[in-house]
Amino acid sequence: MTARARADTRGFAASLVDWHARHGRHDLPWQRHRTAYRVWVSEIMLQQTQVATVIPYYERFMQRFPDVGTLAAAPLDDVLHLWSGLGYYARARNLHRAAIRIAGQHGGRFPGSFEAVADLPGIGRSTAGAVLALSRGERFPILDGNVRRVLSRHFGVEGSATDRAILEQLWALSDECTPADHVDVYTQAVMDLGATVCVRRNPSCASCPVRETCVAHLSGRQHELPSPRAARTRRQRQVFMLAAVREDGDILLERRPEKGVWGGLWCLPEFASAAAAGYYVRRMLQGAPARPVPLETVEHAFTHFDLIITPLLAHCSGSAEVPDPAQTRWYRAREPARLGLPAPIRLLLDRLAGTAAVQPQLFD
Ligand code: SF4
Repeated sequence: MTARARADTRGFAASLVDWHARHGRHDLPWQRHRTAYRVWVSEIMLQQTQVATVIPYYERFMQRFPDVGTLAAAPLDDVLHLWSGLGYYARARNLHRAAIRIAGQHGGRFPGSFEAVADLPGIGRSTAGAVLALSRGERFPILDGNVRRVLSRHFGVEGSATDRAILEQLWALSDECTPADHVDVYTQAVMDLGATVCVRRNPSCASCPVRETCVAHLSGRQHELPSPRAARTRRQRQVFMLAAVREDGDILLERRPEKGVWGGLWCLPEFASAAAAGYYVRRMLQGAPARPVPLETVEHAFTHFDLIITPLLAHCSGSAEVPDPAQTRWYRAREPARLGLPAPIRLLLDRLAGTAAVQPQLFD
């Protein structure tokens, strides 16, 4: 790096620290009692999710799991229950696995070294750096999506961060910018700048503290940097979900496999075709009609595809034992248990609970 660029990175950090005192965010829940545990949970929740969405989830999570020991001792279902609606459920499963490892291998204390933190499930280089910088003031660079955008624009880095050489260049810049003093303030500041000023569309350059040295601003290329990654075509996936309803109004749920969409959460049994659902009903659920009735479809957008769910309603007479008690259960929508449910499934269950479909007294 040239002497000029080095001077620029120092000025960049100083401007951000100064800006943060007046314009940064200071009242977020994870900024109170900053322990490594509290910062870690916030950093995981904030991956892919906006601050405003995270706050109520974070507050409920901290109330139920105030420390790593409580989280490690809790059943995974309790963790997924509090995560329901936040999406990207692998984050919750990894958080739980990491807490168990901290309890078992680190005596219940958040690890002290960067290597041990980065080795925990679900924690990459940037998250490990953010946790140690924000909670302990240790000097580690970070490079989440917001910071990548700010650095690419400010230093005019061409190319996509999916290219390894570009990614390394951005890490080197991030390291160069990270100051020895006030590292916690700088780290929060660069994240805040990316989240509130140097946003993806229409950045507020007029109120940016580093506009006078920003390559993208000075050359009018804010909308070209960072270079967009090649667009992927969006797919649609069509599935059928069985809404098997017992005489008492309870609905059959199945735990999804750990790997894949909604891993470990409870869901209506899913099938690739209506015929496959009908076959399951005939084989597994006594007294249910051979051909379940389709209900209004539900659509849910994932990052790379749209899921279109056709619910199939089947009333079961008799006791209708669950096929595999460890992986399936009857769920009482009117008195919900604490389970991890994906948001569209919760919506579907609420919808079913509000209709005659699951009112027990309406059965013949
Ligand atoms: S001047 Fe504009 S493009 Fe440059 S860092 Fe600030 S907000 Fe981003």
